[in-house]
This record gives sequence, C-alpha cells and structure tokens, in this order.
Amino acid sequence: MSTTPTVAIVGSGPIGAAYARVILESNPAARVVMFEAGPQLTEIPGESVRNIVDPAAKARARELSQGPQAGALRESLGIPAGTVVEGMFTARQGTHLFDFGGDGSAHAPTFPAAATATNVGGQGAHWTCAIPRPSGSEKVSFIPDSEWDGLIAVAESLLHAQNAAFADSPIGGGIRALLAEEFSELPADSRPSTLPVAGDPQPDGSMRWTGTDMVLGSLIDPDSPLASRFELRDLSLVRRVELQGGRATGLVVEDLRSHETYEFAADAVVVAADAFRSPQLLWASGIRPRALGHYLTEHPVVISTVALDADKMGRFATEDDLTSELARRSTNPADPVAAVNRIPYSEPDHPFSLQVMYAELPPFQLDPAHPQAGNRWGYVNMGYGLRKRPRFEDGVTFDDDELDYRGFPNMSICYELTDAENDDVARATELLTRAGESLGTFVAPPRLMPNGSSLHYQGTMRMGEIDDGTSVADPYSRVWGHENLIVGGNALIPTATSMNPTLMSVALAVRGARRLAAELG
Ligand code: FAD
Repeated sequence: MSTTPTVAIVGSGPIGAAYARVILESNPAARVVMFEAGPQLTEIPGESVRNIVDPAAKARARELSQGPQAGALRESLGIPAGTVVEGMFTARQGTHLFDFGGDGSAHAPTFPAAATATNVGGQGAHWTCAIPRPSGSEKVSFIPDSEWDGLIAVAESLLHAQNAAFADSPIGGGIRALLAEEFSELPADSRPSTLPVAGDPQPDGSMRWTGTDMVLGSLIDPDSPLASRFELRDLSLVRRVELQGGRATGLVVEDLRSHETYEFAADAVVVAADAFRSPQLLWASGIRPRALGHYLTEHPVVISTVALDADKMGRFATEDDLTSELARRSTNPADPVAAVNRIPYSEPDHPFSLQVMYAELPPFQLDPAHPQAGNRWGYVNMGYGLRKRPRFEDGVTFDDDELDYRGFPNMSICYELTDAENDDVARATELLTRAGESLGTFVAPPRLMPNGSSLHYQGTMRMGEIDDGTSVADPYSRVWGHENLIVGGNALIPTATSMNPTLMSVALAVRGARRLAAELG
C-alpha cells in the first residue's frame, strides 16, 4: 500500500459520493479520484436538477443527462452522432432507456422501461428524493439491527433527511386525515404519515432537494482540507477494472473529450455505476461470478392520479387554507411538488409502500374540456410500490460478440412477474382504488406500469453472507475473491423490498466505506 492510498471510484451518483465522503473523513491519508462518464450539469457538481429555477437551464441539464438520447448534445457526450434512438417508450426527462431501439441498444422486451442517467450526480441529480427506511424482511438479515440503525442514521445525515417535509401544508394534512379514516384497520406502524425525503427546507417553505453535491459536502468546499484529497473527472468513461492476482490495481479510462485512453493506478476500486452498467463493467473486466447480473428485482408500481374533492378535503382544510397554500406555492413555480405523504410498508398487513404526491397540476396534460381540468383543490399522484421476489432467472446477461453503443458487451434483460407479484398487483389495485375514492375522483385509474418503470433496480450484484454462488459481494460489499474491489448501489440489495432503495444503498455504502477506509491503513 502506498503512503497516499488512492481509491478510484466509478460513478458520481449518491453511492459513489457516499463512498468518497466516508473514506476521506475516516482516513486522513487517503486520496479519492472519482470517474464519471457523463458531463457536469451545474456549477456546483451534482446538484439536483430540480433546484434549477430557469426552465431553459433545467431542460438543458436534463437533455445533457440523456446519453444516447441527448439529441443535439449527444456528440458532446462522446456518443457517435449516428446513434439512432427511436424507441416505443420515452424515458423520463433526464434519463435514457437502455432498450432505446436504435444501433447498439440493449435488448429488454420484458423490461422495456429500464432507464438510467449519465451525468455528474447520476440519477441522484434527477431523483424524487423519497427516502423511507427499509423494515422487517426488507432489511439485510446478516447485518445486526444494532449496527443497522447507526448506518441508517449516518445515511440519513449524508442525504439531509427530512421527516416532516411540507408537514405544515393544510392540504397535505387533509390528505393524511382522509387516508387515515379510510385505512383505519392498518397497524400503528403503517399509518399515513409524511414521506421522509432528502433535502433542506427553505425559509419560504420550498425544499432544496439533495443531489450528490450535498452528499459530497466538504469534499467540494474549496475551503475544506478534504477538498485537496478529492478529484472528480467528468466525461471519463471507465472501460475496464485492472486486476492482478485477484486484486484490483486500477482502471482503464477513456477521456471522452479527446477519446484518449489511459491507465489509472489505484489501491482500491469502488464500482458504483448503476445496477446494469456496474455488472456490465465487471463482466467486461473478466470478473464474472455466477450471480452477476442475476436476481434482478425492482418495484412493480401501480399508479393513479386523482383530482381532490372539495367537499371531502373541506372537512379538514378551509377555503382560506387553500388560498394561502396556493399563494405560497405560486412563489416557487419551479417545483411541482407541494406535499408528500405515504402509507409505509408493514409486515404482514401492508407489504406495500404507498407514495402520495400532491401538486396543483396533474403530472400530464389534461384536456381543458375534462370535467376535472383546472381543479382548484389540485391533484394527487399516487403509486403503490410492490415487492418482486428475487429469482436467478430474472436478470441481465452480456454478449461478448455484440457490442453496445459504448463498445461494451451488450445487455439482454430477462424478467417476469410470477403469481406472487400478480396477487400483490391485484391487492394493491384494490387498495389504490379505495385510497383514490376516499380523496376524490380518478383522472387516471389505477394501472400497473410497464416493467422497469420504478427506476429502482436491485439484486444484480447482490450481497450474501457466504460465497455460495447466489451473491456477488460479501457483507462489506467486496466482490468475493477480490478484497479491494468494492461494488455499490441498489444492485447490492439481496431482499424483496417495496421502499425507495437509495437510503438503504447509502447505508450499505457507509458500511463498505468504513471497512475500506480501515483496510487502507
Ligand atoms: P447512479 O445515480 O445511477 O449513478 C451512477 C453513475 O455512474 C452515473 O452518473 C453514470 O453515468 C456513471 N457511470 C456508469 N457507467 C460508467 C462508467 N463505465 N464509467 C464512468 N461512469 C459511469 N430513489 C429513491 O430512493 N427515491 C426516489 O424518490 C427516487 N426517485 C427517482 C426518480 C428518478 C426520476 C430517477 C431517475 C431515479 C430515482 N431514484 C429514487 C433512484 C435513485 O436515483 C438511485 O437509487 C440512485 O441514484 C442510485 O445511486 P448510484 O450512485 O448507485 O447510481
């Protein structure tokens, strides 16, 4: 080990950022260099695009993150101009589909909505920032609860967790009260409550949403001594992890500005490049444990949109409350979300996570002639997140003989819902129907989103207690047999979960980063 142990991190999303922060805060000698394939979008690296006020700047930042689908900006991201991107689905703004249907596209007919983001901050520059805690069987059984609670607390602090966002919104309060009445049978730990989110409340009632800038914290503060030991290289595509005798020795990196390739030596490597591109990079580097890419899970999502009913809401909020809420909201038109509620997961009675987002406008264009158009009380967009049970056969495989648009072994994703999930979909649809009818009138009825829509992809580099072929990494996120090669992200989650995964993945990253920082000496 050199006197300045160097850690190379692949990916600048929340997980790469958590690794960088914990390693540098825990080890006073270490240096971290982070490589990110995408461009830096904002002056402060990794800031949430949701915080950008100017609509044109926001739209540009989103387009810049869309990799092969970045339109006129595509070439500046090192992607050949000829890449054709026609596809049957459009990804959410700021993200791009894996199976975009053009040259070098992945193949995911059974998981068509799979998408990601390519930019400094990763998906963490675009995310909704919901960070509920995992509970019961969602947690990792071989990490003791006594340690887990501490890891979650650190993860919440890194993400700037806020448990009472918009708690003073009278409309948000009315929504909670109506849901509590409707679901009075639910156990105490599954009562409607405010949704924990990542961000800092501002004096004007708005939120400054967490991006990886906030996770990096002092690492990007030029006045902090930690900043001198941290470097972020954008538009730097990691092509391979180099190994010697089972140890990672560094990376092969392509500078996407010059298209020159260089080697970077490191004492340890952390791969946190999302749940599809991380296993792809391992595969391309010749690291191919049996479970790599397999056991893919996500959250099947049943969603709907409801126009809030004046009479129902009027039982808990007055016209004056609504007027003052709308006045307050008009000061912050950049952020469509005005209140966030949920019904949390609870075993065995409510094995789902319901998310209820209130906004003045529906999330899609509503025909002005629609009877619920222009509803003064606004709308809620609601989604039930469901569990997918891990199975070896659900997953991504890589083809050495067919390269993708970036020149990596191309991906094929295979995925299927089984009876267990279909039963849950039926039950969640019933519950969502009850929730919607208790709040108002459906503008969009409950429906199951296409596979891949959750953007919460888990299991493809799952951690395990022992190396029995059903996992890729050990309980400290080290790839089995490669002690200084660490993997990070939702791909590590080995359980069936229903909650948004980033908080859990940051907690796992804190555990892995502490162990790595100690091992670096
Ligand atoms: P990412 O954020 O995906 O970052 C990975 C980075 O690695 C990317 O920037 C990518 O460009 C880079 N990369 C990939 N390959 C390479 C390579 N070879 N070389 C160099 N760099 C590479 N989660 C929640 O918990 N709650 C939510 O409310 C929520 N809402 C979401 C809403 C949206 C619209 C989106 C897109 C995601 C949402 N998510 C949410 C998911 C959340 O954003 C992810 O869980 C989180 O960002 C994962 O962090 P990560 O660091 O593992 O990966």
